[in-house]
Amino acid sequence: MSTDINCNPGKTVSFSHNSVNVFFHILTDCNLSCTHCYINPEQHGANRLPLKTAIKWLDHFKNSASKANLVILGGEPTMHKGLPEIISHGKKMGFASITIDTNGYLFHDILDKISPAQVNFISFSLDGPDAQSNDAIRGKGSFDKCVSGIKQAKSKGFSTSLIYTVSSANIHRLDEMVSFIDTLGIQRFFIQVIGIRGKSAEENESNLQVTKEAWLNIVPKAAEKAAQNGMTVTFPKVFLEHDETFECAGIKADNYFIFPNGRVYRCPLCEDYPIHSLEISEEGLTKAPKINESDLFNLNIPEGCVMNRLVQPDNIVLDENGNPKHKIACCLLKQEIAPQ
Ligand code: SF4
Ligand code: SF4
Repeated sequence: MSTDINCNPGKTVSFSHNSVNVFFHILTDCNLSCTHCYINPEQHGANRLPLKTAIKWLDHFKNSASKANLVILGGEPTMHKGLPEIISHGKKMGFASITIDTNGYLFHDILDKISPAQVNFISFSLDGPDAQSNDAIRGKGSFDKCVSGIKQAKSKGFSTSLIYTVSSANIHRLDEMVSFIDTLGIQRFFIQVIGIRGKSAEENESNLQVTKEAWLNIVPKAAEKAAQNGMTVTFPKVFLEHDETFECAGIKADNYFIFPNGRVYRCPLCEDYPIHSLEISEEGLTKAPKINESDLFNLNIPEGCVMNRLVQPDNIVLDENGNPKHKIACCLLKQEIAPQ
């Protein structure tokens, strides 16, 4: 297969030094059991954050809220009965944006308890363009339920985005997915790449990672097509060319991946290990004991991202001398294409 890219690859969105991203997992339980679920209860806990605690934890970001994007997720966040109050509190705090990531089941009549003025996006997850392909990954009935959830959200005036997690199991359906979501009126399309953590790490004998050739042949073209259909499209860079600079978001960006057991990571690839660099409690955010993820961020290796090398090296190709043919970008480095 050749790496033929005859389309606009979009602009690479480098890490912003001025914005903050708060990924707030308010619970870890979920009604689904997706084959690639990244939640690891041993590492992330199994508790639902009491509403009072969730509010106190959010308050720790009061000084940066105006430049912070709040993403509320789980598990399935709509299973948390306090979600409307958490959103309402985040809105009052003045977060720059508020997004809910959901599998589309929309429990507890959430759409009747929040308003489009309170949330910038409701972000739905689907991993295939039809029930057969999606449900093989996300579970029986999940496609129909999610599509119905998107339609309900649209009918109530919410802005919607869609997340498609690319792996070797579904990369060949991405182009069809773009055509399908065009019928749903989705405004933003996030193409993610599979992370080998949580269940994917347990089941990686099937090698869910995709090759550079497959990625470059399929993903940029699909992204371009989605942009031509009027969507803003974001997808990870993954593979760096020789003239591109490697940067680690753990050093360059200000991201917080917060779990209900109080662990706070700066890097999502570290989430399967007890190496979080921060801890959160009602008292505040504090540094976690060393050694932790922050000790890895400065390591300079020819493969690029250290955590990729350690936990998901199947996307690295070596030349005849044993040197990597390309660097792997930080998993948080994205490319974006505006609607055309
Ligand atoms: S919907 Fe999300 S949290 Fe739930 S099982 Fe699937 S990947 Fe995991
Ligand atoms: S994915 Fe790699 S480069 Fe990005 S924050 Fe983690 S360790 Fe750093």
